[in-house]
Amino acid sequence: MENTLNSEPLMSRELETPTFLMAQEQLDSVAHKLNLDPGVHERLRYPKKALIVSVPIKLDNGETRTFMGYRVQHDMALGPSKGGIRYYPDIDLGEVSAMAMWMTWKCSLMNLPFGGAKGGIRCNPEIMSQRELEKITRRYTTEILSIIGPEKDIPAPDMYTNEQTMAWIMDTYSNYFGYAIPGVVTGKPVGLGGSLGRVEATGRGVTFTTLKALEKVKLNTNNPSVAVQGFGNVGAVTARYLYQAGCKIIAISDIHGGIYNPKGINIEDLFKYVKEHKTVTGFPETENISNQEILELECDILAPCAVGNVLTEKNADKIKCKILAEGANGPTTPAADKIIYEKNIFIIPSILANAGGVTVSYFEWVQDIQRLFWSEDEVVNKLQVLITKAFDDVYNLSIAKNVDTRTAAMMLGVGRVAEAKRLRGLYP
Ligand code: GLU
Repeated sequence: MENTLNSEPLMSRELETPTFLMAQEQLDSVAHKLNLDPGVHERLRYPKKALIVSVPIKLDNGETRTFMGYRVQHDMALGPSKGGIRYYPDIDLGEVSAMAMWMTWKCSLMNLPFGGAKGGIRCNPEIMSQRELEKITRRYTTEILSIIGPEKDIPAPDMYTNEQTMAWIMDTYSNYFGYAIPGVVTGKPVGLGGSLGRVEATGRGVTFTTLKALEKVKLNTNNPSVAVQGFGNVGAVTARYLYQAGCKIIAISDIHGGIYNPKGINIEDLFKYVKEHKTVTGFPETENISNQEILELECDILAPCAVGNVLTEKNADKIKCKILAEGANGPTTPAADKIIYEKNIFIIPSILANAGGVTVSYFEWVQDIQRLFWSEDEVVNKLQVLITKAFDDVYNLSIAKNVDTRTAAMMLGVGRVAEAKRLRGLYP
C-alpha cells in the first residue's frame, strides 16, 4: 500500500477548482512577504470545516428534487465565522471554500472579531417560487443547524438571498431551540432584529472606498465617469451613492445585459424603471452594451459588482479605467491582477471595497447581543470610520512596502489571523 503520509496535500482532491486554487495562490503570494510560519501557512490554505448536505424539497409541481448545499468555515481563530449564503446554479465546494477564505481576510482586515465562512445551495433561484425558496432555505438550515449559531458561525445574505431568506433561517433555528435567537444570522429584516443601514451597507462601503481612492488618484474632472457591472444589492446601491456624490454613471448592467450613455444615466429614474420592467435593459436614451463590453469601456471608475472571475488574462489589457473598485467577491484573477497593476490602475481590492456588508453585519450582531439598537446615522458613521481606517492602513502599507494594494490588504488580513493562530498555538 502506498504510504499516504505527506503524499498528497490536505483536502486537495476535494477542493482543486480554479477559484479555490486562485484563493490559495493569493495567500501563497503574501506568505513569504509575511515570513509566515509554514505550519500556520498550511493550516490557512484549507478550510477548518466543510459540510456538504443534500437538500431535498417537494417542488410546486409535486416532484421531489434534491439540491446540493454547502457551508464552509475557513477559520475561527479570532471569533465565530461569518459569511453569506448564495443560491446559484454553478457553485461547488471549491468556490464556496474560496469565498470562505476571502471572508477570513476581509473580517481580519476590518478588525472584526470574526473568522470567515460561506455557504450556498446549487440551484437556480430565478425559476423557483417563493414557496420553493422557503422550503429549500428551511431544509438547508436544518441540515447545517449543528454548525451555525451566534457564537459559532453566523450566515448573512449573498447572491440571490435576502432579508426574507435570513428571516426563514432565523425562524427555523429559533424553532429548534424554542426561543427567538436573532443573532444566528445578520441581514435580517429590521422588524426581526436586523440593523438599519444593512441593506445599503455594501454599496456604501464601495462608495466610501472609491471616494477615498479619488483623493489618491488625481483626475482632471469633478464628475468622474463610472461603469458598474451588476444591478443587484451591491451594484445598484453603489451606482446610487456614487451618482449622489457627483459621479457620472455612464454604463450599468444586470444579467440580461447592459445600458450605456456617455452623457450619464439618471440613476433615480433608472430605479423607477427597473421596479416596473425588472431589468435595466431598454432604459430610454441608452445604447445596449454587453456585460463583457462594459468592463472594457473608457471610464474613470470601473466597479464590477456581480459575479467573480470576470477580469482575466483575456480581457485585462483592454481595461481602461483609472480606479478599479471591486464590489464583487474575487472579480479579478491573479493573472489579470499583474496586467492591471502594470497599467497603473488603482485597485480597491474586494476584501476592502465590499467589506461594508460584513462590517454592518458585525454591528447587527452586536446590537442583537446587546438588545440595544442604533440609529441609521450611527451605523453609517461607524461604518465610515472603520472602512476609512482600513483603506488608510492598506494604502499606507502599500507605499511603505512598495507593493500593490491587493498585496497590502492581504498582508494585513492574513497577518492578523496568522498572529492570532501563533498566539493560540496548535491544540493539542
Ligand atoms: N455576503 C457578504 C460578503 O460577501 C456579507 C457577509 C456577511 O455579512 O456576513 O461580504
